[in-house]
Amino acid sequence: MSEQLDRSFKTLKQTIPLLLKHRIPAIPTNYALWYTYVDKANSALNEEIEQALAEGRPFSTIYTKELYRKHLAEKEELNSWQLRQNVEAMLIELSQSVSDTKTNTQGFKSTMDNCLNDLSKVEKEGWSMDEVMQLVRTLVQEGQLIRNSTLDFSSSLQKAEQEVAQLRKELEKTKHDAFYDALTDLYNRRYLDQEIRSVTTRQKACLIMLDVDHFKEFNDEYGHQMGDRVLKAIAKKLKEKCQQNTIPFRFGGEEFAILMRGVTLQQAIHKAELLRQALEKITVSDRRSNQRIKDITASFGVACYQDGTDPSDMLEVADQQLYQAKRLGRNRVMPIRS
Ligand code: GH3
Ligand code: MG
Ligand code: MG
Repeated sequence: MSEQLDRSFKTLKQTIPLLLKHRIPAIPTNYALWYTYVDKANSALNEEIEQALAEGRPFSTIYTKELYRKHLAEKEELNSWQLRQNVEAMLIELSQSVSDTKTNTQGFKSTMDNCLNDLSKVEKEGWSMDEVMQLVRTLVQEGQLIRNSTLDFSSSLQKAEQEVAQLRKELEKTKHDAFYDALTDLYNRRYLDQEIRSVTTRQKACLIMLDVDHFKEFNDEYGHQMGDRVLKAIAKKLKEKCQQNTIPFRFGGEEFAILMRGVTLQQAIHKAELLRQALEKITVSDRRSNQRIKDITASFGVACYQDGTDPSDMLEVADQQLYQAKRLGRNRVMPIRS
């Protein structure tokens, strides 16, 4: 932990002079950019900055913004950068607070030693009342100081505790965002890939891929917002119809996938057929024309995991079957059930 802290301190110390040197305003985005440069965490960013430096290109606000957008604006990277920054800021504050308390405690101890030493002289050397009072005052002052510093430390600890709770929440959210699709709140492609990789030999598993038919035309006719509502309605229906070992995912765009465990190809084809019929029944209302839009259909391709093959082959096979379903006229499941 302290090594990490040391490194952060070093990076921090190198970042600020760079901002000053290149006359870059120390706003958080610029700071993030140059911190990442000093930290050498993003090689593409470093290459571009090195080149700009070699060419003597000035770091104008526009250029800096462009660099930021190109290399850092990716949400995930930024999220984890912010998280790391928060943790580091908290650690720095805590360690400062610990060292302040330590210094104050040591100072207090030596003052106490001196005072005790002086106290023993009070009688021996016949100190005046003023001298004794001065001693007492010093003791009270030092006591106050140590009390304040302990209070500061405990409030720092309390703040740190709150911050840790907040960070934990943010981390949970980041984890959630990493595996869920924002529009439909279904699991996303990344999670599907992970689940597919976890399919092991002698496990029965099937993959259903579905693609909404003529969705481009739908968007063109009713608008993108209506298109989004259709995707949400499809996701809702899939969630409703998929239970236990049947997990729906948004594969991307207007494509969805369903991973089924413990079923045969024939059972998966049957499930795909039921889903096809369920999607056919979806209707959404168009507020502009006050009509209900009905004919939403999708084409399906099904594949089964073959023992000893790469589980991700299922994606390719299901996609080929889906292509066949499109070619044969859409709104159908391929292969046909035998
Ligand atoms: P096909 O039956 O062959 O699948 O035709 P298609 O029009 O559905 O296929 P195509 O690949 O030509 O177009 C897919 C369309 O899906 C284009 C794109 O605008 C739309 N789309 C993809 N993602 C979204 C989204 O998130 N929201 C909306 N509203 N539309 C999307
Ligand atoms: Mg498509
Ligand atoms: Mg389509």
